[in-house]
Amino acid sequence: MNGRLYLEDPYKIEFEAEILEKINIKNKLGIVLDQTCFYPESGGQPSDRGEINGKKVIKVLELNDKVVHLIEEDISEKKVRGIIDWNIRFDHMQQHTGQHILSQSFIKILGAETLSFHIGEFESTIDVNLKSIDGEDIERVELLANEIIYQNRDVKSYFIRRDEVEKYKLRKAPPNKDRIRIVEIEDFDFSACGGTHCKKTGEVGIIKVKKWEKMKGNFRIYFVCGKRALKDYSEKNRIINKLISEFSVNEKEIIKSVERLRTECKDYRKRLSKLQEKLVFYEAEEIIQSSKEKIIKKVFKEREVNEIKYLALKIIKRGDFAVIFGLEKGQRVHLFMGRSEKISVDLRKIVERIAPLIEGRGGGRPDYIEIGGERKENLEKAIDEAYKYIKTFI
Ligand SMILES: [Zn+2]
Repeated sequence: MNGRLYLEDPYKIEFEAEILEKINIKNKLGIVLDQTCFYPESGGQPSDRGEINGKKVIKVLELNDKVVHLIEEDISEKKVRGIIDWNIRFDHMQQHTGQHILSQSFIKILGAETLSFHIGEFESTIDVNLKSIDGEDIERVELLANEIIYQNRDVKSYFIRRDEVEKYKLRKAPPNKDRIRIVEIEDFDFSACGGTHCKKTGEVGIIKVKKWEKMKGNFRIYFVCGKRALKDYSEKNRIINKLISEFSVNEKEIIKSVERLRTECKDYRKRLSKLQEKLVFYEAEEIIQSSKEKIIKKVFKEREVNEIKYLALKIIKRGDFAVIFGLEKGQRVHLFMGRSEKISVDLRKIVERIAPLIEGRGGGRPDYIEIGGERKENLEKAIDEAYKYIKTFI
């Protein structure tokens, strides 16, 4: 544990060191220093980022008790100067300290242990052993967690010997090591942890649970702390303000407005489909009246597939007709063929004859088939082929 400056002072961001070793890890150059401020990814906390002698540190790993800094370019000097990205470090401190507070709050309010923890790029998660949870439970937990923040309690860290563990009410079993690092939130939480934390709970700013979902028989809690929570609040406020101006209502009426709009939309859709049905009925009559023979051919452009299908079915029920309808829609073409009961042709036999013409595929019943294809330019030809075939049965 020697030389891990972040354990003594997580606020220290610059340091001087000597290169002890260079290691190749998956074609990336890793360097080991005699001391470092860089936190290596572990225990759910991602690694720090920053620079060593002006060279970018891509990732920091823990390998056989050594801290290995993966850098983008080799460093020729032996003595180096490192600087970590403070914004990322402080963000991790806020999320991580917030997690300790939140995990203990889950124990105090719901008796739920934290099973795992992860700081993600946008939000952090803990998995808690709960079989069920609701919004009110979450609010109670959040309230306690944020009270602990407002009370601005001290957060201390120190090492203890293994035989002293019994004296501390640790939140979870400590690692099997001779010396164990304790992170203590004054009179609230004791946890064995090697991460970086704030000095005072007040620095966490706020803890907000965003959502929760079932995960392998437990619950996964998504939360944000500090600046992430502020960013999240700003984003939500922007959305709310946009909705307020779209609906011309106040904040509290937005949900009602959305619900009303949804109901209206549903009603309109129903009415529209009824009107469409009626229209198709009249259209079918019109087509029948103007056709001179029993086989009716027609090409439609940019209509709904279902509408044309409905139209075809409507006509073959009205009398002894066979219909061959083509539809050009976007880049595709569709063919619809149907016949009345008295015309005894198995339309499925047409599919293999004309589907290749439009590079299409299809099928159906003996009295009704559909083919969808790509070659628009051959639509008329396909219709003529189908016509010739059907004609022999009439
Ligand atoms: Zn921690």
